[in-house]
Amino acid sequence: MKAVWSRAFSYALGIALFVYLPVRFVVDAHAALWTVFVLVLGFLAWHLHQLARLIRWLRGPLDAPLPESRGLWDVVFAGLHRRVRIRIGQQQVLTETLESFNRAAQALPDGIIAFNKHRQIIWINTRAEGHFQLSAATDSGQALTNLIRHPEFVAYLEAGRYEEPLIYRSDRREGQTLLIQVIPYGNEQNLLLSRDISQLERLETMRRDFIANVSHELKTPLTVVAGFTEMLADDFAAYDPGEIKHYLSLICDQSARMQRLIDDLLTLSALETGTGAHTEERVEPEKLLRTIHAEAEALSGGRHVITLTIESPACLSGCSNELRSAFGNLASNAVSYTPEGGRIELSWRVRDGFGEFSVRDSGIGIAAQHLPRLTERFYRVDRSRSRETGGTGLGLAIVKHVLTRHQATLEIQSQPGKGSTFTARFPPQRILG
Ligand code: ADP
Repeated sequence: MKAVWSRAFSYALGIALFVYLPVRFVVDAHAALWTVFVLVLGFLAWHLHQLARLIRWLRGPLDAPLPESRGLWDVVFAGLHRRVRIRIGQQQVLTETLESFNRAAQALPDGIIAFNKHRQIIWINTRAEGHFQLSAATDSGQALTNLIRHPEFVAYLEAGRYEEPLIYRSDRREGQTLLIQVIPYGNEQNLLLSRDISQLERLETMRRDFIANVSHELKTPLTVVAGFTEMLADDFAAYDPGEIKHYLSLICDQSARMQRLIDDLLTLSALETGTGAHTEERVEPEKLLRTIHAEAEALSGGRHVITLTIESPACLSGCSNELRSAFGNLASNAVSYTPEGGRIELSWRVRDGFGEFSVRDSGIGIAAQHLPRLTERFYRVDRSRSRETGGTGLGLAIVKHVLTRHQATLEIQSQPGKGSTFTARFPPQRILG
């Protein structure tokens, strides 16, 4: 401010000298007046020139270099320049803050749509674009209810009662379920948050199906056991010893069936939760397969020809109890689903560094459409046949879990009427020389 005043004072002094000197030293009054006039005109022209430079600079780009000037104009230029710089700095901070908010909102795992009181989209993040198949570039400014016409969604927005979230099952993307919540904010604006809960829904459905399946599996044997025991308890004397023996053996069969189911459920649960004792040890396939071969022979009761081939002396690193349960399931399935007189081959080999345990049978085989679902819990190709064989429907689910825990895969080749081959493939790091 001091500088401005001192410059203003020098200006005033200059003007006073401009006028005084010609009047004082130019004798002719007419000539003195002309001199003053010319000097004032020059002074004015210089100021107009500076003004023109200022206007040019103001119209130019924001980062144009500051024109150099003298006197008061220097102060004006510098002052304006300082203001512009401060404003640009503030704008930069604001832009960076906005960009960082934008990046944070884009990185959120939830979808976000900001919309106004007319339900027009103000802003939308990438996740929400995916959830609703919208595009920020083309759909901003459009009414949400014009873009998403799902009746439940429209009714939810129109009702304006946002305390409760909406479970939105998309008709655009099959199997997608979104949890939608609207949060009003600011000046009649709203934030719509969407979260993909499809996975949770699937898990919930699986849980419900599982409970229904277990109840169903237990219901049949329980009904048989309850029916016969009630019958015998009511009037035991009315039945002859032969009948009683027959009923008791039926009760025994059904109890054993329930026992197997509970055992398999416990095994599966221990595998799934990882609570079972999983010990890594050196497993000798030959020893293990000899035990399984003997069990299969016992199960078959001489109805099949069961062979065992050990092509490699290599051992396997894994949990022998779990492997025994998995291989045992594959072998007992082969016995159950191969008609009398059929062949069953158990084998162990190492091929391209991978250890392969196979069970090949000449049984009933499986149609191709069933193969991808075979390891699902309670999935059976033929329910009544599985029950006849005493199957729980959990055997292959257990096999799959055991193999996954050993980083191994299960390959199934089968042809209806010709037989099946189940192969468990172990990765090279599990094969011990
Ligand atoms: P289950 O206790 O019913 O045998 P699994 O999970 O072991 O249950 O097998 C699922 C289904 O796969 C069986 O119900 C059967 O339909 C089919 N399956 C399994 N192994 C064989 C096989 N070796 N030959 C033909 N079908 C088989």
